[in-house]
Amino acid sequence: MSDFNQPLSGNDMPRFGGTPTMFRLPFAAPETAIDVAIVGVPLDIGTSNRVGTRYGPRQIRFESVLVRPYGMATGAAPFDSFQIADTGDVAVNPYNLLKSVDIIEDHFRRLITQASVTVALGGDHTVTLPILRALAAHHGPIALIHVDAHADINDEMFGERITHGTIFRRAIEEGLIAAKKMYQIGLRATGYSAEDFDWGRAQGVTVISAEQCWYNSLAPIMDRIRNALGSEYPVYLSFDIDGLDPSAAPGTGTPEPGGLTSSQGLEIIRGCFGLNLIGCDLVEVSPPYDPTGNTALLASNLVFEMLCALPGCKRR
Ligand code: MN
Ligand code: MN
Repeated sequence: MSDFNQPLSGNDMPRFGGTPTMFRLPFAAPETAIDVAIVGVPLDIGTSNRVGTRYGPRQIRFESVLVRPYGMATGAAPFDSFQIADTGDVAVNPYNLLKSVDIIEDHFRRLITQASVTVALGGDHTVTLPILRALAAHHGPIALIHVDAHADINDEMFGERITHGTIFRRAIEEGLIAAKKMYQIGLRATGYSAEDFDWGRAQGVTVISAEQCWYNSLAPIMDRIRNALGSEYPVYLSFDIDGLDPSAAPGTGTPEPGGLTSSQGLEIIRGCFGLNLIGCDLVEVSPPYDPTGNTALLASNLVFEMLCALPGCKRR
């Protein structure tokens, strides 16, 4: 018997019954010490086009009932390795983006006194900026692996400096991210200008376009990233579901053609095993654009793979 929280088994309660917490794990009250805190951030007022990511955490949890506790390919057993719990949602302010950003930062500053690793369910990509503010205050500048169709490094949008498309420019300017230890994977399609992709390169960011990934295994790229970052430096993984192709993940606000396959998404996350991952997020799932639930189901499996990639996760 494990000492750690275990998901409610599909052989004890049918998967369509019970309480749909993430992976059917117990809920952890704020004062409980845990290793990994899963937390929903139901925000969608930072988006530039289609909304709906406020429903992302709830649908990802709902679809996560199908995920089982062992990874067959990796042999990873995260629920035998760490005390993992669903800690509920951040109470964002649906009328005020800037207040919500502060609320999220405060929430994560408290959460990292409770748990050594945070795994966030978005929400639009704006949520990553306050998370990085909280984590960098604790760890110092962080290395970043960023999967996305978009660079999210615009200077401003509609004159606003905080939106889901500007967060990584702010994070670099604020010194939250070590730009030379930042990798963007899956960028593609159309931008406002060449600067949309080039500003990051000028700061030292490594940009790996979707075209560089087409038809290839991404395992060699991840080997290079692991060799460059080592096993000590703190790393954050931010996974925008629109990094994947809309055929795999249509339920999102700004889909772009020619994206990564779901297996390439798995290779990226599995390739993070060996890094000092201190936090992850899975953002931009917009349930109204995929009423089948398949985008959220894929997202919940990607979040499971994140748990499997955490440092110290046991392999059978
Ligand atoms: Mn994004
Ligand atoms: Mn995106």
